[in-house]
Amino acid sequence: MFRRYNITCLLSIDNTKAQINMIIKQEHLVESIHSSLQYISYYHSPDFIKAMVLAYEKETNLSAKNAISQILINSKLCALGKRPLCQDTGIVNVFIEVGMNVQWEAELSLEDMVNEGVRRAYNDSDNRLRASIVSDPLFSRKNTKDNTPAVIHTKLVQGDTLDITVAAKGCGSENKAKFTVLNPDDDLTDWVLKTIPKMGAGWCPPGMIGIGVGGTAEKAMLMAKSVLMEPIDINQIKDKSEHTEIETLRIDLFNKINELGIGAQGLGGLTTVLDVKIKDYPTHAASLPVAMIPNCAATRHVHFTLDGTGVAELPEVDMNLYPDLEMDISKYTKVDLNTLTHSQMQTWNIGDTLLLSGTIITGRDAAHKRLKRMIDSGEGLPKGVNFDNRFIYYVGPVDPVGDEVIGPAGPTTATRMDKFTDMMLENTGILGMIGKAERGESAIQSIKKHKASYLIAVGGAAYLISKSIKKAKIVAFEEMGMEAIYELEVKDMPVTVAVDTDGENIHKVLNNIPLTYTS
Ligand code: SF4
Repeated sequence: MFRRYNITCLLSIDNTKAQINMIIKQEHLVESIHSSLQYISYYHSPDFIKAMVLAYEKETNLSAKNAISQILINSKLCALGKRPLCQDTGIVNVFIEVGMNVQWEAELSLEDMVNEGVRRAYNDSDNRLRASIVSDPLFSRKNTKDNTPAVIHTKLVQGDTLDITVAAKGCGSENKAKFTVLNPDDDLTDWVLKTIPKMGAGWCPPGMIGIGVGGTAEKAMLMAKSVLMEPIDINQIKDKSEHTEIETLRIDLFNKINELGIGAQGLGGLTTVLDVKIKDYPTHAASLPVAMIPNCAATRHVHFTLDGTGVAELPEVDMNLYPDLEMDISKYTKVDLNTLTHSQMQTWNIGDTLLLSGTIITGRDAAHKRLKRMIDSGEGLPKGVNFDNRFIYYVGPVDPVGDEVIGPAGPTTATRMDKFTDMMLENTGILGMIGKAERGESAIQSIKKHKASYLIAVGGAAYLISKSIKKAKIVAFEEMGMEAIYELEVKDMPVTVAVDTDGENIHKVLNNIPLTYTS
């Protein structure tokens, strides 16, 4: 049974009139969290779509333009198919402003209501989302199976409504969060421009950069995250005749970050960031805490208010925002993976675009760790998995629904697998790897030594990529859920050669600086 709190306080006087305070029902909040998480799993917000379209239109670097077009095609397919934009359906972040006059009809605590909504959203059989959250993060890292708990920030404010922002943050971008404490007279711009290239491309640019300045360490981090929930408006800001100091700084950083030439997926080009957001707060005279958090090609958040009248109504998405784009495969080379040899691979150059057909296997962090343990202990490779002459695809797919072969299945950040690359090339017979973003120097040297190749697929184009997967079966480590090893039959899977058999690599801009492998 629901308990109604403070029923006797329902009438409050605001000097002139009696006002009935709104009662927020448990089911309304739970269902609003459920529906908002489903909504953001397949809808980009209009400001994001418009900014990506603009980036596409002005891009002159063909590899980057191709990547942006795949992100836009993926976005439209997801909106139509109501399936996730990315295989990483995120860690849930919820910002709640609770009006001090809000009344509740609820049995659960606020956090438990939010987590019940998360549970329903991620296990929704119409659009099952990937459960990525593990408990006991230092040791057993056991998947909680329903993506709970969410990370919840609550603030008490004036009023009698609940103001909620729900986000699902992909960890390719979350893992690139940075924090420093500058001296008060240090230059923020210098630090940002020095730090952004070190983040590599694992955060799937183009995206946004959120910067929190001031307060204390945790306040700066929270501001950097919460400012990412604001709409992209850099072009409107640029068009204004007068700017505040923060707006001037935003424009300056926006221009200078894009001039770094990192570009979409780190492939070079004009757009690395779609916007730079800054939030500040008073701080100690001796301190200047600065936090920076990127948001990726799967920027997902929605805002709504509950006033006691029911479940949140979420905005309609205007499909006319999408341009008519199709994959231009005229410059792609078809590759039969089932007959591919090392000597054929030696004809590939960085930047070549390929359409892969044939059999590949998958594996990501936990699978690599387990394979290493098996090899080191003399147990050997798992039975039933044929690695020989195959590419390994770094992916943790979403489970299929309906007649799907597999759910969205985009690449995960390859740098996390760098430490396993030599072991894999030495012991398994694989020809190479497919992932996203740059490789570190040791992995590149190993690729060169083994005359292997590293191919990249577009991070943030997961549903589009899943359309090229025709068969999928789990061949090892089934109990590890999304970390299981699959054998996939692909047909015309689009990839780009990022490291060729001579160790040339396409992410030179990023590899000429020491990278910090945090993801
Ligand atoms: S777009 Fe990239 S960083 Fe974002 S959720 Fe997907 S894989 Fe992760």
